[in-house]
Amino acid sequence: MDTRQLSDEFAKIGAMVIEKEESLVDVRNSHATIVYLTSENAKTQNGKKICGQCEKVPDKYKWSVPADFTITVFLPNIEGFTDEQKEILIFHELKHIGIVFNADGTETYSINPHDYEDFKEIIDRFGTEWSVSHDN
Ligand SMILES: [Zn+2]
Repeated sequence: MDTRQLSDEFAKIGAMVIEKEESLVDVRNSHATIVYLTSENAKTQNGKKICGQCEKVPDKYKWSVPADFTITVFLPNIEGFTDEQKEILIFHELKHIGIVFNADGTETYSINPHDYEDFKEIIDRFGTEWSVSHDN
């Protein structure tokens, strides 16, 4: 089961991270809307725990999800995360948001792939082990 619920906690973290991170200036300056969700699913991919997921809402679902992007946090996989780890996770997910400001004033949205296994800026600043829970 992967039932997703709106998350005030991660919406607040997201707003704070967007405000303070220089590399998110495009997100800050765009009209893109983001809905933050949590899931009780212990999601894995290729045997690795997935902490979060950023998705572009397809046009055909816009009627049901009033946003351009969703960021989902898989709660069982972030057990024991500190506030700082939660912030880095949301920072990571926000860096997936791709925005092109078009000449006619419209904006085109996409999902940015990772630079490497992660984003170079995240690795440089927080190392490769930032998501390892302090409980482990
Ligand atoms: Zn990612």
